[in-house]
Amino acid sequence: MTLALFEKCPIQCNSTLIETNIHLPEGTLRQCSQCGQLLSACSEDWYNKSMQEFNTPKGTLPEKKHKQRYNKRISKILNAAKKQLLYKANDIISLDVGCSSGALLQVAQHCGFTAHGVEPAEQAAKTASLIPNAHVFQGLLHDAKYPDNHFDIITLFEVIEHLTNPIDLIQEIMRILKPGGILLIGTGNADSWTVHIQGEKWDYFDISGHGGHISFFTPKSMMFLAQHCNLVIKNIHTKRVNLGEKKNISFISYQLNRIARELIALPARWTNKGHDMLVSMQKPIN
Ligand SMILES: [Zn+2]
Repeated sequence: MTLALFEKCPIQCNSTLIETNIHLPEGTLRQCSQCGQLLSACSEDWYNKSMQEFNTPKGTLPEKKHKQRYNKRISKILNAAKKQLLYKANDIISLDVGCSSGALLQVAQHCGFTAHGVEPAEQAAKTASLIPNAHVFQGLLHDAKYPDNHFDIITLFEVIEHLTNPIDLIQEIMRILKPGGILLIGTGNADSWTVHIQGEKWDYFDISGHGGHISFFTPKSMMFLAQHCNLVIKNIHTKRVNLGEKKNISFISYQLNRIARELIALPARWTNKGHDMLVSMQKPIN
C-alpha cells in the first residue's frame, strides 16, 4: 500500500485526522479535528500525475465569453484590497502567485499596478511573459528570491488547495509582503452548503479534473492559517451554492436547482456558507 500524502494537518495543528463520510476514488477524505481542514487520501504518485494538466500555453485564461465578467470581478477585488492597505501608496506593486497564463496580471495592469507573476508551469508562464510590461518568473516562489517587504498586494487564487505545505508558501509570502500590505487568497469552502448537500459529488473534490485539489479550507481553517503565519484576517467572504452538478442530475432537476440556488445565494453569503471563498489577510506593521 502506498502512503497517503497527508499524515497530519498541513496547518500544523496538534490534532488527529478523522475519516469523513466523503468517499472519493482515491480514498475517503479526512478532516483535522482542530481546524476542520479536509484532506485528500491520495498517494504522492496520484497527486503528481494530476498536477500535469495545467501545463498548457492557454493555462487558466478565462473563455472569451467570460472574460468581461472575470475582468470586472478581479478589478473590484484588487481595488478593494488597495483600500485596505495601511499606508498611502502611489505605485502599487502586485504579485500573482500561480499566475498561469497571466489573466490576473492584465487586470492588475488596468488597475494601474506594476504587475508581477510567478508560475511553475513552463508553457503557461511563457504565455504570461508575452504580456507587455508584465514581470513573470517561471518557477517556484521560493526560487524567485524577491526582496523582503517588496509587494503591496499578493494574490493566491486557486493555488492553496493544491499544496501539501501551505505554511511554507505563506511564510515566504509574509517575507516579501510589505508591512500593512494585503494577501488575497481565493479557494473553495469545504464548510459550504454545497458540500453539505452534494458531499463527494461536488466537482471541486475531483482531483483529476482540477490538477491536484488535495487540501480543502474552511473559514475556520483560514483563521488557523493566518494565526500560524502572523497575518491578520481583514475579511472572509463566501458566495454561491450549487445543489447539484449539471452532469449528475436530470435537466428538470438542474433547472429546479438553479431556482433554488438563486434563493439561497444571499443567506449563504450572510452565513459564509457559499462554496467560493475569498480571504483578505494583512501583514501587521510592527
Ligand atoms: Zn488543522
